[in-house]
Amino acid sequence: MFRRFGKNGHIELQTSENNLVVSVSIGAIIDDIHSDLLTLQHNAELALIEAKQHGHGSVYLLDNSDKNRIRETADIASQLIHAIDHNELYLVFQPKVDLSTMQPVSAECLVRWQNASGQLISPGQFIPIAEDANLIGKIDEWVLNEAYKTIQSWKQTTNQIMPVAINVSAQQFHEPYFIDSVKKALDLYQIEPELIEIEITEYSLIEDNTLAENQIQSLYEMGVSVSVDDFGTGQSNLATLLELPINHIKIDQSFIKYGLKSTKGMKILESIVQLGASLGIKMTAEGVETQEQLNCVMKFGCHQVQGYFFSKPLNSDDYLTYINSFSK
Ligand code: C2E
Ligand code: CA
Ligand code: CA
Repeated sequence: MFRRFGKNGHIELQTSENNLVVSVSIGAIIDDIHSDLLTLQHNAELALIEAKQHGHGSVYLLDNSDKNRIRETADIASQLIHAIDHNELYLVFQPKVDLSTMQPVSAECLVRWQNASGQLISPGQFIPIAEDANLIGKIDEWVLNEAYKTIQSWKQTTNQIMPVAINVSAQQFHEPYFIDSVKKALDLYQIEPELIEIEITEYSLIEDNTLAENQIQSLYEMGVSVSVDDFGTGQSNLATLLELPINHIKIDQSFIKYGLKSTKGMKILESIVQLGASLGIKMTAEGVETQEQLNCVMKFGCHQVQGYFFSKPLNSDDYLTYINSFSK
């Protein structure tokens, strides 16, 4: 039986034998007086889901902008289910340039989605939705195969083939079959492992450290390189990375965009680059757009750069034209 609301939205219940403490989340709505009962009930359930996502003991009041956002997310998730089968996804490639030679040395492949109405939806928007809706595994697998297929097609048209970095979500990276799918595709498309780089985020390292370490070790033994992406945004540290056969660290764009504006930010960036480099890890600065930013990251000793200063992500043909222009 209900006794009283305690601190943090807890309810104390007293039975003849026990005192129980139960956490309560409350979803509330303000809705149109003319809404039918089912709609009201549905919206109240959405409010409750939001409340639970904000932690135990939360109260969440759902307003109209929430309803629109939730509806839009649900729409994107339901369209995304068919995106692969309807050939709506494609890949683009953004060159990474080596700062000792100023030549492109590899590319990151990035997924693009043009939906059935011709609208381009950015991965920044749909990848998090795909993660929540458990669709990311299918997308990551499609990207992996499509990247291998593209490399195979390049082999038939050019002898200047460079490694391709493939983004893998934390969810997919922690699947026990992930290593097997990388290996099977190498065999199927006859791709040398040195041509593949797997980009994981720091989050992949934190979530299940032991499994992540094993997966990284297996990739290393296979000859596939590993990059830690968006470095500096998560909670991993260089000491953890020291133990792992990591080949590249990509410093998060925010360090370039905001960090280089202050002396303190510059010092942080410089020490990250120096520490990583001293561990034998190749350091890449991402999001470099200006000559000034390039000068800074060069001065700090970054090995590679990826950013609009050199090139935006390109379709496969434009990417080949881009890299061929350097060999002339
Ligand atoms: P990310 O992995 O950090 O990729 C780099 C993002 O920065 C890309 O955005 C790229 O276009 C953008 N970028 C590169 N240079 C510059 C620059 O100089 N200035 C600015 N403003 N932006 C720059 P994009 O393609 O929109 O991708 C966003 C994020 O979506 C990616 O961030 C990654 O987390 C995710 N993503 C993209 N493709 C895939 C994929 O195939 N699989 C998975 N799991 N995630 C992907
Ligand atoms: Ca990436
Ligand atoms: Ca990044």
